[in-house]
Amino acid sequence: MIIVMRQAAAESQIEAVIARIRAAGLDSHVSRGAERTLIGAVGDERGLTPQMFEAMPGVERAMHVLREYRIVSRESHPENSVVMARGQAIGGPALQLIAGPAAVESARQMREAAALVAGAGGRWLRGGVFKRHSSPYGFQGLGVEGLDLLQEAAAGQGLLTVSELADPRMLDVFLEQGVDMILIGSRSMQNVDLLKEVGRINKPVILKRGAAATLREWLLAAEYIAAGGNHNIVFCERGVRSFDPDCANLLDISAIPLLKRETHLPVIVDPSHASGKADLTPALARAAIAAGADGLMLDAHPEPAQALSQPGQALGPQAFAELMAELRALAAALGRHWA
Ligand code: PEP
Ligand code: MN
Repeated sequence: MIIVMRQAAAESQIEAVIARIRAAGLDSHVSRGAERTLIGAVGDERGLTPQMFEAMPGVERAMHVLREYRIVSRESHPENSVVMARGQAIGGPALQLIAGPAAVESARQMREAAALVAGAGGRWLRGGVFKRHSSPYGFQGLGVEGLDLLQEAAAGQGLLTVSELADPRMLDVFLEQGVDMILIGSRSMQNVDLLKEVGRINKPVILKRGAAATLREWLLAAEYIAAGGNHNIVFCERGVRSFDPDCANLLDISAIPLLKRETHLPVIVDPSHASGKADLTPALARAAIAAGADGLMLDAHPEPAQALSQPGQALGPQAFAELMAELRALAAALGRHWA
């Protein structure tokens, strides 16, 4: 941490800052210039905040030197991390496809969805059973019964499963059911109790970006999970709030290379929730892969027009198969392949 004193800061104010640094167990290093005095707090500064110092008389501003997130930071782990689940690697050379309906609706729908995903070469079936959408009057999901349908349909095609956990009290059910990867939805990204709870297990967790979350907030949310001991974290960019209502969310392509620079953990993209419209999804999916994402999460439904949740953004069987054919060619052009 570097603390910049005001030009007219009194010696007693400089001393007070030094005392505060020492009280936190760090060393201080004072640099007296012609116009400003700078004070460095030397040591593990993560227990300090700029605000602690900026509230003190004579301080102009304070800033971190080290990253606030430690475990998820590439500074602490320069190589890419690969997150494993039942033999599937996320973040390795192979791209991963997670697809399926927004919501689990019926055994038949899930069987057809699983066949669709497996037929297109996907390895993961998604399906929400506790829906966390904006309106309380929308379909809220089938609950625990839906998890049975998800697991059965996936097992029938040899797929792994992903489902959203929103309530820490349901974690044991997800573990008992054998859900392979836990999805933390964008509305829960800063639910600290939930993050701590999934930090205690060692199942992989997909952490979606909050619709108005900065990269720093997102990385710190992941650090909550990692600090509990679970380092199996996959970031999922799903678009952020923008001023233009033509698109549900604004897909932040820059987030992919920025995250790749900041963290060693895998980064996937959900172009379906970003676009909110099935016809826009293919272009965003191609852009995400071209920008370096490790995989995609796509809404796909055997009969989009009948979907109980977000029908407008689900790819139907034909559109989904066409997109996957394009994405195979794109991966090959980039020297990658799908798992
Ligand atoms: C979802 O993946 O079903 C979902 C609700 O997405 P998000 O949390 O990104 O809105
Ligand atoms: Mn959804």
